[in-house]
Amino acid sequence: MTIDQNHLTVWGNCLQTIRKNVNSQSFKTWFEPINPVKLDSGSLTIQVPNKFFYEWLEEHYVSLLKMTIQQELGAEGRLEYQILLNGNTEKVTKKEDDERGPGSVDTNNIKNPFIIPGIKKVKISPQLNPNYTFENFIEGDCNRLARSAGMAVAKKPGGTAFNPLVIYGDVGLGKTHLAHAVGNEVLKSGTNKAVLYVSSEKFTNQIIQSIKNYAVNDFVNFYQLIDVLIVDDIQFLGNKEKTLEIFFHIFNQLHQSGKQLILTSDKPPKDLQGMEDRLISRFKWGLTADLQAPDFETRMAILEAKMNQEGLDLPSDVTEFICYNIKNNIRELEGVLVSLVAQSSLNRRDIDLDLTKKVIQNFVRQISKEITVDYIKELVADNFDVPVEKLQGKTRKRSIVLARQLSMYLAKNLTNKSLKAIGEKFGGRDHSTVIYSCKSVHDLMDTDIIFKDKVADLKKKIKLSLNEK
Ligand code: ADP
Ligand code: MG
Repeated sequence: MTIDQNHLTVWGNCLQTIRKNVNSQSFKTWFEPINPVKLDSGSLTIQVPNKFFYEWLEEHYVSLLKMTIQQELGAEGRLEYQILLNGNTEKVTKKEDDERGPGSVDTNNIKNPFIIPGIKKVKISPQLNPNYTFENFIEGDCNRLARSAGMAVAKKPGGTAFNPLVIYGDVGLGKTHLAHAVGNEVLKSGTNKAVLYVSSEKFTNQIIQSIKNYAVNDFVNFYQLIDVLIVDDIQFLGNKEKTLEIFFHIFNQLHQSGKQLILTSDKPPKDLQGMEDRLISRFKWGLTADLQAPDFETRMAILEAKMNQEGLDLPSDVTEFICYNIKNNIRELEGVLVSLVAQSSLNRRDIDLDLTKKVIQNFVRQISKEITVDYIKELVADNFDVPVEKLQGKTRKRSIVLARQLSMYLAKNLTNKSLKAIGEKFGGRDHSTVIYSCKSVHDLMDTDIIFKDKVADLKKKIKLSLNEK
């Protein structure tokens, strides 16, 4: 160890190594939130946001961490974790009595119409959709944290640090599905836990009814029987004063007695409108996990899973086209599939690329400009950092020759232009030059995997550009 090494520089160096070894999404999720705290006789202490985080790092990245620490601190180097105390500690010491709303009740003494005297526990219908399970919730970088936290919660409701578990994300990205999956998984475990799923709208309506019927206490009591309460789309509770007050009370009661809360929202808790800070701060007690838009591979996996469910088999150009064009909403992805099936049986025609394009037009406003040779040339020139005019010129400089050949290859593969037409776009070269270029690119891809990756990347970029703008 050198004199001027401190926890910041050591961790900084570790991060550089780690960054090279994990993908950028994982890096962002698991390593950026870490704070180095101190460096003490060969041991680096890092602070992680919660216990789950720690467990995840230990499970998935232990060897990488070990390797980087030893690289920085020598063979004796050690890593220690400090887990950031979260709201749960606060909860234990804090008295909740002063925060009871008017809906509050003495739970020992109230009659509850939902409970039949003599029967200890009512059977509560969980209101879950049995089709929303973990098995058919496809995993990808976009949902890994939320999915695994959901799984952890389902295994040990109320017994993890993720209470509440807040799942947020844009519309159609799987919040409702994941929330149901947790509930279904709890039921599957056969522990006899009372699970209840309720949408925020329904919850609000129930409260309005109970106020009308002077039955707010019964309402609150009913909710206190629940072991796992799932409230969907809590953003709709904003500005509904009475509802929020009662919700706050139920939340506190359940949380205090170690019951699990799962909430979904279309925005992160801090951005929820029309909610008091005291409520928002409670949402932060547990874990807030977001669902992001799935990447292309995940969209393909989801689409294929849906096809399997429906017993469908579509050609790969069709599935790829769908996934290139529908990016930000999984519900739409399913919608396209349903429309395709309907259109094909109505019109008695097979599902092919033409039909798919037509159907997708209803989903995305502007569809596919065609891929042009000019566009390919620009993109490649930009990527190789050479002026685009050089691609049609005579220069024999290695990097320019390669860019030129690659452009021809991509034009051949991604457009339906003839060899002759492509040759013309490159300073009037003839078709045999185009063939020769394609072959050269092929050969190079066989021997140079970095180049091969680059080609794959460019192809993807070009296809993705289809529905931009
Ligand atoms: P949200 O509640 O976020 O608006 P939903 O949970 O209703 O979204 O999801 C929309 C549709 O997409 C549902 O039919 C759901 O089954 C499907 N879906 C979302 N995410 C996934 C996934 N990871 N794997 C499979 N299907 C998914
Ligand atoms: Mg939903």
